[in-house]
Amino acid sequence: MTNTTHDSAAMRFPARGYAFQKYVDCHNWIAGDWREAASGENAAVVNPRHGWPMGTVAMSGHADVDRAVAAAKEAFPSWRATPYKERAQVLYRMKALMERDVEELTWLLSHENGKTYAEAKGSVLKAIECLEMGCSLPNMIGGPQLDVSRGINCSVTHEPLGVCAGVVPFNFPTMVPMWMLPQALVAGNTFVLKPSEQVPFGAMKLALLLREAGLPDGVVNVVNGARPAVEALVDHPDIKAMGFVGSTRVAKLVYARGSALGKRMLCLGGAKNHLVVVPDADPELTSTTVVASAYACAGQRCMAASVMIAVGDVQPIIDKIAAKAREMTLGTDMGAIINQTAVERITRYIDEAERAGVKVLVDGRGAAVPGNPGYWLGPTILDDVKPGMPAGCEEIFGPVLSIIRVRTLDEAIAIENDNPYGNAAAIFTTSGGTARYAIERFDAGMCGINVGVPVPREPFAFGGWNDSKFGHGDITGEDGFRFWTRPRKVTARWEHNPDATWMS
Ligand code: NAD
Repeated sequence: MTNTTHDSAAMRFPARGYAFQKYVDCHNWIAGDWREAASGENAAVVNPRHGWPMGTVAMSGHADVDRAVAAAKEAFPSWRATPYKERAQVLYRMKALMERDVEELTWLLSHENGKTYAEAKGSVLKAIECLEMGCSLPNMIGGPQLDVSRGINCSVTHEPLGVCAGVVPFNFPTMVPMWMLPQALVAGNTFVLKPSEQVPFGAMKLALLLREAGLPDGVVNVVNGARPAVEALVDHPDIKAMGFVGSTRVAKLVYARGSALGKRMLCLGGAKNHLVVVPDADPELTSTTVVASAYACAGQRCMAASVMIAVGDVQPIIDKIAAKAREMTLGTDMGAIINQTAVERITRYIDEAERAGVKVLVDGRGAAVPGNPGYWLGPTILDDVKPGMPAGCEEIFGPVLSIIRVRTLDEAIAIENDNPYGNAAAIFTTSGGTARYAIERFDAGMCGINVGVPVPREPFAFGGWNDSKFGHGDITGEDGFRFWTRPRKVTARWEHNPDATWMS
């Protein structure tokens, strides 16, 4: 059923503060129209700060995916025929529109996800920065050409794949889609995006802004829902490639399912990031940075510090970290947890560690924010965790920093290397030699030196190793462009050349 009330003006999100605000029902965006799920099924979208439903989201299945893919397939020939430079112009306009609406996008993200205003704004600004990569592509990717023999020229063009799909997690509803859309669209693909059913509104706004920026209907479609929608997308014969970002468990399943069908898949998973602190580290820089890494976004980000490995005597730095964690004001310095199930999961990890003899140096259990009856946990530090304990090696995905104490840097590196994940690792030191020694040995795709969230900014690409990523290459930067394209090699001759060799 078409919903005609969903025009841009009616869908403005008016909140400019944390006070609870109801919003619209989020339908699927297909060929430039809002459509309810064919089954009529919806789920509540709950504001994590307040714990109250702010709207609903369509829970889609096969029929909805079929419709969205058909729309994308129909839009493909004409979008593909649009020159690179013209396709990029849509993203330039999109950038301006996102800048115009940055406050609205920020507050919407804060309400659906529970982030603080500053965190939400940071992630919207990062989404805008990701667009720049798409804008730059026409100036970056002119294919090489060469006279390879007498009268023979070889050249390369980067061709789109067709209809592509992206499946994204709850923690960055506006930014993670922008890891995929700019490169995929400028390359000439059409797209079906499946947002997290917990935070569908960011993608809904992106779809509206893309239309306002001049993107033809059908080039980007948004299908909401959960596992059935993802499986229908992976299995759909017209989906040529899929980017996935989420937990390792699901990334593995989705990667295996798509690869078995011969599809191009790039699936980013979870993380357990280690920050190694040695005695010569700068106490102020280190403590501030570790706290920001562990507790921003309430620890719900794949680049968050979840383990700090304390090498030797770094007690003064640990004391500073604990003091800074205790000083944080819940609700303003740190946001909410996504839902009650997550609060219970995180709490279980803390309880279990405590039962195993770990010291709960800072205890966030039971924390609350007056007037905000949602899902909360305060910053937590577990001291003297052993590497094999669940809190020492599993992804908790919450505001919990596990401190593991070791005597040597080699022991710290061995612990980091043993972990199956490989998203990020960082060393905190004032010695260039120590930094280099550690960085060369970390088994992680994104490494930091005195940087707690070593997210490579554009044009450097984002991507972990090991169980943090399944598939080849990174998801952003030039690798992202290569993922959504295939190179066509053309060998040309325009005249008969009597000097031609057999290779001509
Ligand atoms: P999730 O794996 O539960 O969900 C991710 C997406 O998959 C959602 O769109 C969801 O609807 C869908 N999904 C859920 N279960 C599915 C199933 N069985 N089959 C098919 N699809 C399914 O992840 P989440 O809780 O939304 O996000 C948090 C996780 O994402 C964390 O593990 C975090 O580390 C990870 N993450 C990783 C990166 C990265 O770059 N590596 C970035 C952000 C988040």
